Amino acid sequence: MSITESLLAPASEGPDASEPEVPERKSWTEQITLTLFLVIPFAAVVAAVPVAWGWGLTWRDAVIATFMYFLTGLGVTVGFHRYLTHRSFQAKRPVRVALAIFGSMAIQGSAIQWVADHRRHHRFSDREGDPHSPWRYGTDVKALSKGFFYSHVGWLYDWDKTSEAHYAPELVADADINWVSRKFTWWVTASLLIPAFIGGMWSWSWQGALTAFFWAGLVRIFLLHHVTFAINSVCHITGRRPFKTRDRSQNVWWLAILSFGESWHNFHHAEPTSARHGVRLFEIDTSAITIKLMEKLRWVSDVRWPDAGIIARRRVAPNSAN
Ligand SMILES: [Zn+2]
Ligand SMILES: [Zn+2]
Repeated sequence: MSITESLLAPASEGPDASEPEVPERKSWTEQITLTLFLVIPFAAVVAAVPVAWGWGLTWRDAVIATFMYFLTGLGVTVGFHRYLTHRSFQAKRPVRVALAIFGSMAIQGSAIQWVADHRRHHRFSDREGDPHSPWRYGTDVKALSKGFFYSHVGWLYDWDKTSEAHYAPELVADADINWVSRKFTWWVTASLLIPAFIGGMWSWSWQGALTAFFWAGLVRIFLLHHVTFAINSVCHITGRRPFKTRDRSQNVWWLAILSFGESWHNFHHAEPTSARHGVRLFEIDTSAITIKLMEKLRWVSDVRWPDAGIIARRRVAPNSAN
């Protein structure tokens, strides 16, 4: 086991060898629901062009949409990813439950399923067994185009389901996180209704509720979906590779702001448990800033900030300008 793997999977959090990796199958209901949640926000974005042209986007909707984008986006990056999957820090109970709920509101699957898929991605990155490698069909242009689509959204339709008991046994055994996972439909509903409620109250009109539902509900879900998906597709195809990894993960600067720092994906694969992914001065990492703030407020503790020595050791070559 490499250092990276042992860091990723200490006994208490990694794949549980005692639980066999039993292949599970997705149901038709899951596949149809998935389609609805991909197609309806997409239709909203198509509709958004004439809507924005005709009536414009009000400040009110822009503010609510930005708020919802931050809440659910950080729920995924800080909550699902850096906390639940990689244990980059410890969190107090209300904070851990809140993070799991906000992540669920991004509508990318339940907390435990998300973690299980992502741990499998790290275990097999760009090799056989990776749930979403863009390189699975080969390296020529045609194979890579197909691979891009697969890694971006196609993999979600794989009938095989990653075993939660195998990849996230400690979360299955965790009463709080298990409860949040099982109530996934509640958080999906909340994710759609909260923007409508805020818009309605703010404008004191049904029209305000409807436009907020449209922009801060549907369009926001679409944008966050595809930014998250781009970490799996774009960040394993193009970018820069200043750090040593056995996969094709890359740092992609132009996705940094929208992805809350997750697009510094090469360093993430080099040092998965690090609470910070963007390690250089101008590598904006809003998730790391959020964790820092929560640390100051004493909501979280034992944060794994990478020291200069670790960062230097992970580099491809000392002082490499790559
Ligand atoms: Zn990756
Ligand atoms: Zn990760």
